[in-house]
Amino acid sequence: LDIDFKKIGLKVGLEIHQQLATNKKLFCNCSQIEPKEYTGKFSRKLRISKSEMGDYDPAAIFEKSKSKTITYYTNPQSNCLVEEDEEPPHKLDESAKNIALIVASALHSNIFRELFPMRKIVIDGSNTTGFQRTMLISQGGSLQANERIVGVQSICLEEDAAKLLEDKGNVREYSLDRLGIPLIEIALEPVEAGPKDMRNIALSLGRLLRTTRKVVRGLGSIRQDVNVSIKGGGVVEVKGVQQLDQLEHVVAYEAKRQDGLMQIAKKLQEKQIGTAKKDDDIFDVTDILHNCKSKIIQKSLQNEFLVHAIRIKNFSGMFGFEPYDGIRLGKEIGQLVKSFGIGGVFHSDELPNYGIEQKDVDALKQFLQISDDDGFLIIAAESNKINFAIDAIVDRINIAKQSVPAETRLATPTGETIFLRPRPGSSRMYPETDIPTIPITEQELDTAKENIPKSWDEILSEFKTKYQLNPQLTEQLFDSSYMELFEKITIQNNNIMPNFIASTLCSTIINLERKGLKSELLKPEYILETFNLLSQEKIVKESIEIIFEDIMSNNSQTIQQAVKKLSISQVNSDELDEILDKVIKNNHDMIIKQKERAIGPLMGIAMKSLRGKVSGEVINKKLEGMIKQFLNSKNEK
Ligand SMILES: [Zn+2]
Repeated sequence: LDIDFKKIGLKVGLEIHQQLATNKKLFCNCSQIEPKEYTGKFSRKLRISKSEMGDYDPAAIFEKSKSKTITYYTNPQSNCLVEEDEEPPHKLDESAKNIALIVASALHSNIFRELFPMRKIVIDGSNTTGFQRTMLISQGGSLQANERIVGVQSICLEEDAAKLLEDKGNVREYSLDRLGIPLIEIALEPVEAGPKDMRNIALSLGRLLRTTRKVVRGLGSIRQDVNVSIKGGGVVEVKGVQQLDQLEHVVAYEAKRQDGLMQIAKKLQEKQIGTAKKDDDIFDVTDILHNCKSKIIQKSLQNEFLVHAIRIKNFSGMFGFEPYDGIRLGKEIGQLVKSFGIGGVFHSDELPNYGIEQKDVDALKQFLQISDDDGFLIIAAESNKINFAIDAIVDRINIAKQSVPAETRLATPTGETIFLRPRPGSSRMYPETDIPTIPITEQELDTAKENIPKSWDEILSEFKTKYQLNPQLTEQLFDSSYMELFEKITIQNNNIMPNFIASTLCSTIINLERKGLKSELLKPEYILETFNLLSQEKIVKESIEIIFEDIMSNNSQTIQQAVKKLSISQVNSDELDEILDKVIKNNHDMIIKQKERAIGPLMGIAMKSLRGKVSGEVINKKLEGMIKQFLNSKNEK
């Protein structure tokens, strides 16, 4: 089903977060590494922070209502007392500041002459302090994305949050290695644009950042928040978009979801559905469902949970009404309830089912005093949670009549979105009193301007010429996470063709990835080591893929191990002659028939046993000689 994005008034704002490659954190000297294991941990309970305005943030209250315990995993290699909130922050890292000034200059943004470190309230536990340190670098400016010019709203320098390891039931786990890594946040003006346009805009911005050569590459080093709205609806913030394909899907999915919710609202208005009330329409139905066969209900009863029902007049059919495939109010409410850590919710359009039988439904209807035109929801949860969840459901149902609710959602890897929390209120910032303000000098501004990198196209064409790569490979390399590694390999090994290095990085590894192997196991230093071995002629070209495959399938943990296990380079010249002699001997008939053309099939046969042990070139040369010799000896007879 095609949606007319213009007609529904689709508007998308992009907010990009890019890690800066400074090798340290923004406010301490810890390095930017991902430890192999965590050596310590500590736990905290979430508490509500009061902003300077004295208002409570709705999102904060929502998080608090879920009463989670947060556990942080630590390692002294990648975090210190600053990340653990046991010590005040150190001085701002100068290199991170300078990169931010260069990026702001490149985007023609107006840089402030004094930076004010602020605390931005973070309510999900991803910061040990309960806030994220951030400072506004500049405002305004523009990005050129193909033919389109997109306005820049603001550029901030801030700390990255802790990395989420697991979120299950009442416990949420984070590791501290990512916390405090410098991030540049660039917020673009919302534009009327479809999914493809947004992809191009994000690509242009990502490329501009990469031309500085001072940003971290690879999955997770650049993250996008996308604000999506349509005409008449609230702004939905989608977090956690990491890839361009995913971004495109998320924008398309949200357009569909939001237009679907508008259609649901229209239908609800036509039906003149009343308002569900938080007092009159809530019933304790524990007794009614006491003997039902639903496993979820029975388990809840064993745990002494409460089972409540919400009655909604005239609502029959509206939970299951599906204007687009997979877009229904029932699903929205299911996700909302799940975000409280509650597993059990059923709505009237899906019953009888899941062990709740017709007789249970009849008993419920009689108890709730409703007819077939009405709807209801059943929810089972702990007593300390159930009222928060019911309030949220009633609010959600009442908003459904009006439009798309403003909320924060999370992108799934396939590009759908799921409910995360209500949108935070506006009073989320207050000054960071531990850090003095930071002046920006005239000279720093000049230096930043002088260091604006060349344009993407210029850099690409210089690069193409320098390494004699084809345009497509150059572009692939520049967009990949291997750019810096490529240069390192070429500098250290000038006897290897840059073209071979680039295609190994851009296609061999990707192909192995597509087979389901894990590229994160293949560390940059492993790749470098492998090319060094090739350069020293300790391995042959053909063995590189085999070594990478071995590492990426987690069969070997070091390159030395992989090389040894695969008995690469263990065929000496005599053994090689012997093997090839056998190949010739076993295929006399074919050689007589095909003459010199027999080289093709014979290479295939020989490579089966020699792949990765001897270079294809050497085998080819030897085989050609042997075929010629054999044919000559035939002719002589
Ligand atoms: Zn630290």
